[in-house]
Amino acid sequence: MGLDKFVYTFGRYCQQQFGQRVQKLTLDAKFTCPNRDGTLGVGGCTFCNVASFSYAANTDASLTIAEQLHGGKQRLREKAEKFLAYFQAYTSTYEEYSLLKRRYDEALKSADLVGLCVGTRPDCVPDSVLQLLAQYQQQGFEVWLELGLQSAHDQTLRRINRGHDFAAYQDAVTRARNLGLKVCTHLILGLPSETALAHQQTLERVLDVGVDGLKLHPLHIVEGSVMAKAWRAGRLQPLTIEEYAATATNLIRRTPTSVVYHRVTAYAKPPILLAPQWCCGRWTGLTAVVDNLARLGGQGSLIR
Ligand code: SF4
Repeated sequence: MGLDKFVYTFGRYCQQQFGQRVQKLTLDAKFTCPNRDGTLGVGGCTFCNVASFSYAANTDASLTIAEQLHGGKQRLREKAEKFLAYFQAYTSTYEEYSLLKRRYDEALKSADLVGLCVGTRPDCVPDSVLQLLAQYQQQGFEVWLELGLQSAHDQTLRRINRGHDFAAYQDAVTRARNLGLKVCTHLILGLPSETALAHQQTLERVLDVGVDGLKLHPLHIVEGSVMAKAWRAGRLQPLTIEEYAATATNLIRRTPTSVVYHRVTAYAKPPILLAPQWCCGRWTGLTAVVDNLARLGGQGSLIR
């Protein structure tokens, strides 16, 4: 696809770090989320249907961590020699410390595992858990803290019912990076009422705080989410592929070349995915972004 020519991809980063191909193996460790268990709320973020995590990633929460890793390695063996355990579903630091440690330890015992990626919310990273992750890093494991921010605008975060603000993100990133942890921030492009300028401002605020990696994701309207109702009622329009590619390209071109892009778009499948239809194609979004970057300039080309 040629993305590596224009973007510092996670694949290129891993090749430099390990001299081998490394793939993330997505896990569902049966955690929950404070925005669903009643601590902050019960409805969750308005774009979220947690079933879509497992559906898209082909994970089965009824299996143990070891079984999920084994299955993932079988599927991806031709694509990689080493693997990272990616705790993706729900909020993967939101549990008793001892249970979290058991789950992470179980993953790291698996053969050919070089580290962990832990997906979570900015308001769910107590110092004790960050210190545990830092210990794994000191032992030589690769560790990434993957923080869902989605937008740096508090008005948007309230509108999508995130239950945390940008200040919580700043605090989490600062504490994590002070311990030497690498942070990958997830952003959604196309949230309600957000313009291309709003996305650019989000990137600028994230870069100001400091970040090691980024993940860009088009807003997916998924079955079972609050947004699905708004979309069915005609009150919500996801981005067209042209709009998405233009915005993602702009952000990539404004990103320093030292920041690792873990992802520049995402795809999903019906029946979980309702819209936009272009997200059904595995390569459609990626091809559009690569075409733009080839024409306009790659990562960092708009930084003066
Ligand atoms: S997106 Fe994450 S934080 Fe929001 S409801 Fe879903 S699992 Fe919880």
